[in-house]
Amino acid sequence: MGDRQADVLLVGGGVASAACAVALREGGFEGSVVLAGREPDPPYERPPASKSYLSGAQGRDDALYRPESWYADNDVELLTRVSVMKMDTAAHTVKLSDRSELSFGSALVATGANVRRLNVDGADLEGLHYLRALRNADTIRGDVEHASEVVLIGGSYIGCEVAATLTAMGKRCTVVMQEPVALSRGFGEQAGRFFQGVLEEHGVRFVGETTVERFEGSGERVEKVVLEGGRELAADAVVLGVGATPDVMLARAAKLELGPLGGVLCDERLRTSAAGVWAAGDMCEFRSVHHDAHVRIEHFEVAVEHGRTVAANLLGEERAYEVVPYFWSDLADWCSLESVGFAPDGWDEEVVRGSFEDGAFTVWYLRGDRLITALSVGRPGDLDEARRLIVARTDLSGAHDALASPDGKLP
Ligand SMILES: Cc1cc2nc3c(=O)[nH]c(=O)nc-3n(C[C@H](O)[C@H](O)[C@H](O)COP(=O)(O)OP(=O)(O)OC[C@H]3O[C@@H](n4cnc5c(N)ncnc54)[C@H](O)[C@@H]3O)c2cc1C
Repeated sequence: MGDRQADVLLVGGGVASAACAVALREGGFEGSVVLAGREPDPPYERPPASKSYLSGAQGRDDALYRPESWYADNDVELLTRVSVMKMDTAAHTVKLSDRSELSFGSALVATGANVRRLNVDGADLEGLHYLRALRNADTIRGDVEHASEVVLIGGSYIGCEVAATLTAMGKRCTVVMQEPVALSRGFGEQAGRFFQGVLEEHGVRFVGETTVERFEGSGERVEKVVLEGGRELAADAVVLGVGATPDVMLARAAKLELGPLGGVLCDERLRTSAAGVWAAGDMCEFRSVHHDAHVRIEHFEVAVEHGRTVAANLLGEERAYEVVPYFWSDLADWCSLESVGFAPDGWDEEVVRGSFEDGAFTVWYLRGDRLITALSVGRPGDLDEARRLIVARTDLSGAHDALASPDGKLP
């Protein structure tokens, strides 16, 4: 028996845990709830860390998922700067970094993800930054104040968003990436060319189909990025956005079953292999009802909806996670994109509706005759259609003209 007891223990101070706490209280849960997170801040939203928080337009309090006072007002015990060190899933106890022990009725493990680090020569020079937490954004903002040349490593949404934000702040940004076109891994080359074009119009430069060989500096600080083949880019600062890996350190030690994608394996209801222990968010590898397979999705809204799903189950509902995944990204205030669905194994065909020239289009991504995901810029109504088609698994074999036509009637 631990020093203390919680009916529900939420492990991890991100939005998955916070959304679960909010949904529990909104659903009338009257038991005790403890939320333990190792960061100094109450649960906050990470998306602003590469956008308006990084630029300084938005402050810390605006980024909080709920105001700091919400937790005390709703009788949720919030432990910040506290790590859950060890979990015994049979005894339902945990050891915390403040040396206390706590026993729990049910637990949600939502420990998120960690940035993937690039292991090349010079990777420990000053001026190299990774971005996951608000405090990383604080450090980057301070560090680039006197920088003129910033190199972004990685052509996915973090690299592109940071390039947009810092360019809008007056920095000269160059994105270095393995892929030929920015954002093409997630959205294909034709949409990627559109987004890269928007960034280039505002002055962002791109070097594609290359990798970083090393970082060089004359003293402690980075001065150059050296690419394969020897090309050199001047760099007063570097921000790396080269992916994230699920944080399963606690889960692995607790012997929760892990999946082939590296996350904690869960069923449709987000139950792990241990009775009374649930998982949610970036580290959760869940059985998706839309894919008939296990997937792991690092999207803000997925983490929130996972938290809500776990809360519904703790409140006695038998609810599967069925929300069609939603993602958005902003390139400064130049362009916003939204997508629904998820394509873990890619797609067979892309059908474009609208026009890239006008900056208002939807790309429908088909696998076989079914819609698997859709991307939209400036056509939000298409995303509602996409959700409907994905949920209904509609056969779109005869619907290519309707998909391509701006006001085509979809089956
Ligand atoms: C810079 C950035 C920009 C993003 N922008 C977008 C966007 O525009 N759109 C979008 O859809 N998604 C975006 N995302 C992704 C989105 O923010 C994540 O999917 C979401 O934060 C996942 O939430 P989570 O609660 O699962 O995990 P996290 O937010 O990672 O939270 C997990 C927390 O648990 C803590 N923790 C880990 N282990 C322990 C332990 N043993 N004990 C206690 N605490 C522990 C971690 O320190 C962390 O604070 C962005 C992410 C980043 C980093």
